[in-house]
Amino acid sequence: MLFTESSAANARAAVHQYFADGIGSFLDGKVVPGAGNPIELTVSATGESFLTYNDSGLEGAQAVVESSQRGAEIWAKTDPFERANILRHVSAAIEDHAEELAQIESVTTGKTITDTRGEMAKVAEMFAYYSGWADKLFGLTIPVPGDWHTYTERVPCGVVVSITPWNAPAFTAGWNSAAPLAAGNAVIVKPSEFTPVSTIRLAQIAHSAGLPAGVFNVAIGEGSTVGTALTTDRRVGKVSFIGSLPTGRKVSVAAAAAGIPIVLELGGKSANIVFADADLDRASDGAVAAIFTQAGQSCVAGSRLLIQREVKNEFLELVAEKASRLRIGDPLDSETEIGPIITPPQYDIIRNLIQTGLEDGANRLTSDSLPASITDSVLGGGRWVQPTLLAGVTPQNRLETTEVFGPVLGADVFDSEQDAINRANATAFGLAGAVWTENVSRAHHVARSVRAGTFWINAYKKIHVAAPFGGFGDSGHGRSSGPGVLDEYTQIKSIWAPTQATGSPFPSLNY
Ligand code: NAD
Repeated sequence: MLFTESSAANARAAVHQYFADGIGSFLDGKVVPGAGNPIELTVSATGESFLTYNDSGLEGAQAVVESSQRGAEIWAKTDPFERANILRHVSAAIEDHAEELAQIESVTTGKTITDTRGEMAKVAEMFAYYSGWADKLFGLTIPVPGDWHTYTERVPCGVVVSITPWNAPAFTAGWNSAAPLAAGNAVIVKPSEFTPVSTIRLAQIAHSAGLPAGVFNVAIGEGSTVGTALTTDRRVGKVSFIGSLPTGRKVSVAAAAAGIPIVLELGGKSANIVFADADLDRASDGAVAAIFTQAGQSCVAGSRLLIQREVKNEFLELVAEKASRLRIGDPLDSETEIGPIITPPQYDIIRNLIQTGLEDGANRLTSDSLPASITDSVLGGGRWVQPTLLAGVTPQNRLETTEVFGPVLGADVFDSEQDAINRANATAFGLAGAVWTENVSRAHHVARSVRAGTFWINAYKKIHVAAPFGGFGDSGHGRSSGPGVLDEYTQIKSIWAPTQATGSPFPSLNY
């Protein structure tokens, strides 16, 4: 099946196969169509319309919260060993349905099939990893003065709302659901209005694998309707948000006003620092993969390339040459490396920002024309942006600090190690970064000095659910993976009992 052969019919058929009556929110184990405004989806590879669905609206969102409240009650009382067992089944079911989920994701978003296959394997891994924690959430026994037995228990937050972006819908749904579910919460995922399909299918699969009704729900629709309703509903115990800085700020304020705590994973403007002593061939492979995989629609994309002056020309040539060899085209072709831009607004944003970068003095080192395999086929109507390398993106260029979220790499030079660190830190974001050098001490010094939640040495983009992930500064706060996340989704309760029957059980002033 390829878009070049059957175009939008693929997307329609894929959706129809699992949702014969159309898509809707998923609650109480069923898909419930919304009654709000219609939302039209287009195939990013061809530009054709393939699905219209209705926003769930305020009432729809409230119905999902009610279902999740019931789910939260059941799930919190479920024996942790049983919770672990069910989550293991969910992981196995995702593995069994991985190819199907990868195809759905690819046809409905335009992400390449190679990327979506990798992501579905990761989603299964997330549930496997956190299933292992569900029955290991210990409290502490705390020594206190006097005859007391004092201990703590971990209590779930209740209903957790997880707001996700369009660039990796099923991946982010799994990323922010597996941990709260392991900790005994019910989860409502609110996927991006542009990419809801794979998340609904994921919830269906999880329910069929044994998650009780109401434990893993999905509410679909716009941020301004369903998103606002969910993040201001006082029945919600926690919000986790993955998305852009402006929306993250807005959601934080709204949730804070309703007294709901929030974990924020936002954007980035990550620096890839290449020293003259690096293995330039490997470093250029890394620089190309860091920005151009997923057509740059990745929060950790290495969108700033800082090159030590001595190797500037040689390194830029390597990167430009490797970027020009990337295969751009049909997302369903497993040879394709670069797919289209997922949403119509993002397509405009990227093209405008390339223009901004050029106006501010950068030079384009890669071609801006698309191959004939795109322009002369059904793909010609799609949202395509060529991998773009811009040299001379100096601190005065607006691209230096603006997240593009597309296949656009801005490069510049540095002279000293301190110069490189200062440039890397000259942004309010702090999500990721990397250094390429053969000098071990320098590698660790730079890693320690760059303000970022994740940093790689002679590597890029490696993440795993077992290791903490999150941002500093404008890239967010709180962490969304690793064992520490279980603290985000539980509250600690202290329990006190006197151990001497003769002592006063009311030592009111004795604290
Ligand atoms: P976005 O901020 O536009 O939307 C994110 C989600 O928020 C969507 O589901 C949207 O419907 C919802 N939303 C919008 N307004 C809302 C409101 N008022 N209340 C509640 N929800 C609302 O982001 P996007 O364009 O979907 O995604 C791209 C951004 O996501 C980029 O900035 C990227 O860096 C970031 N991102 C970050 C990570 C990370 O882990 N740090 C991962 C992926 C993407």
